[in-house]
Amino acid sequence: MSAPRSNKTKVVIVGAGPVGCVCALAMKKRGHNVVIYEARSDPRLNRNGKDTLRSINLAISARGIRTLKTLDYGLFERIASNFVPMQGRMIHSLKGEQTSVKYGLNGESINSISRLELNRLLLEEVDRAGVEIKFEYKLKSATFTSQPESVYETSRPDRASREVKVRSDVIIGCDGSHSKLRYEMQKACDMNYSQVFIDHHYIEMVVPSANDGGYVFNPNHLHIWPRKDFMFICLANSDGSFTGTLFAPRQLLDSLSTFELFLEFFRTNFNDALLSMGEELLSQYYKNPRGKLMSVKCTPYHYRNIAIILGDAAHSTVPFYGQGLNCGLEDVRVLMELMDKYPSQKAFSEYSIIRHDDLVAINDLSMRNYIEMRHSVSTLGFAFRKKLDAILCKVLGDRWLPLYTMVSFRPDIRYSEAVRRDAQQARILRILQNAIVFGAANVVLAAGVLGHRHLLSTSGYIHGYCSNGTQYVSNSLAWVWNESSRKISDQIELFQ
Ligand code: FAD
Repeated sequence: MSAPRSNKTKVVIVGAGPVGCVCALAMKKRGHNVVIYEARSDPRLNRNGKDTLRSINLAISARGIRTLKTLDYGLFERIASNFVPMQGRMIHSLKGEQTSVKYGLNGESINSISRLELNRLLLEEVDRAGVEIKFEYKLKSATFTSQPESVYETSRPDRASREVKVRSDVIIGCDGSHSKLRYEMQKACDMNYSQVFIDHHYIEMVVPSANDGGYVFNPNHLHIWPRKDFMFICLANSDGSFTGTLFAPRQLLDSLSTFELFLEFFRTNFNDALLSMGEELLSQYYKNPRGKLMSVKCTPYHYRNIAIILGDAAHSTVPFYGQGLNCGLEDVRVLMELMDKYPSQKAFSEYSIIRHDDLVAINDLSMRNYIEMRHSVSTLGFAFRKKLDAILCKVLGDRWLPLYTMVSFRPDIRYSEAVRRDAQQARILRILQNAIVFGAANVVLAAGVLGHRHLLSTSGYIHGYCSNGTQYVSNSLAWVWNESSRKISDQIELFQ
């Protein structure tokens, strides 16, 4: 990244979640005067974090890591020391059998980390970098004239007035899915916006470590109990515990109205998990909040050169690709690269233009992946496709990469490019499949003709009729071979 600029800009960031903190560090590194306004209290003062943070842990992969590494405050190393690497999924069948399915072709992993620990490390770094954070300041409104003016409500006892007006040169909204800044910007610019709630809710439960302090499941896997319409997953925490999350349709969760019904549901569907976790854990089902899942799409993400939204504020996604935060951190890297390249007038508008396809792509992929996680992973077709991808990748190298690899381990490939290449690979596989089916049909036909010829020649029938048939079959086989080779090499050439 380039050297800090000399022209100091006053930058206000709304939200001290992971994206807000990382954005503040990146802006500070460029020499700007940065202040963060955060609605909640400091999560470091509330060590169990129950009231302040949403899901208990999350998975960070290559895109998030790439951004963290650009901050070079030694921050990445501190965060990474809390990672629990997960090399694959562990699929639990109804009978309790476990099957490991690796994520990457070369042993790559995604990394589980406690959300609270991540937030704590980032906030400490923000303090160290000299960025001021104002906790318990909730954005209420914003106007955008030549300079943005934002108004915050605070309940802090040290403030005489409940409302505070702040003027800045730039305002950046990192205030999550229900972003107030996004709402205010919608009034100022022609922002297209859509929001979809899915019918599935989630409930998290902490699975403590075993009596000897060890993990109750293999920690280096993301454990999944896929049951078609719902699923249970577990991710390891660095202290020996796991966070289990049940994702299920709202109506199903509503119907589990007593402890006995919930216990029976767990026993029927996730019995091996229940045996490892212990029944008493299920009481968390009634204590812990139920989370909703939504997807937000909007465009543009900026207003003139004075306001922009990043992270969940711009593109809240369902969590099934484990990319929500990774994508939010990538937003920061992309924006900083544009700010280093262009004067700020152009950087924000360029960002809106170049980032949109990628944000839509990961949003859609995340929706699609829910079906994969709760159902497809347990099918034979999924295992076969994984094997086929591994073979083709070995033969073709970088020219054939599984979609999961491109999304989770290749931050140099844009999300939209990953989707395009995956569609092309699917087309090639379809051509191959058709060729195999057509070829097999011709082999059967050839066998039939040859068998018929044998019968005719032994009974003295006309020889020409038989050799024409054989010729037809061998010609059509040659045609199938040539056509499929040509189509496949056409597709592969497009990769180069
Ligand atoms: P947030 O984390 O939501 O932070 C927003 C901040 O803004 C908060 O601190 C909030 O208090 C503050 N704020 C809100 N409104 C105001 C206001 N008016 N004024 C001032 N401050 C305000 N992503 C992954 O990459 N990997 C995963 O494995 C993963 N798992 C997930 C599992 C679940 C169950 C869920 C729900 C999400 C998961 N995600 C995952 C997504 C990830 O949690 C989000 O993408 C990420 O937290 C977004 O970060 P953010 O900083 O943009 O927003």
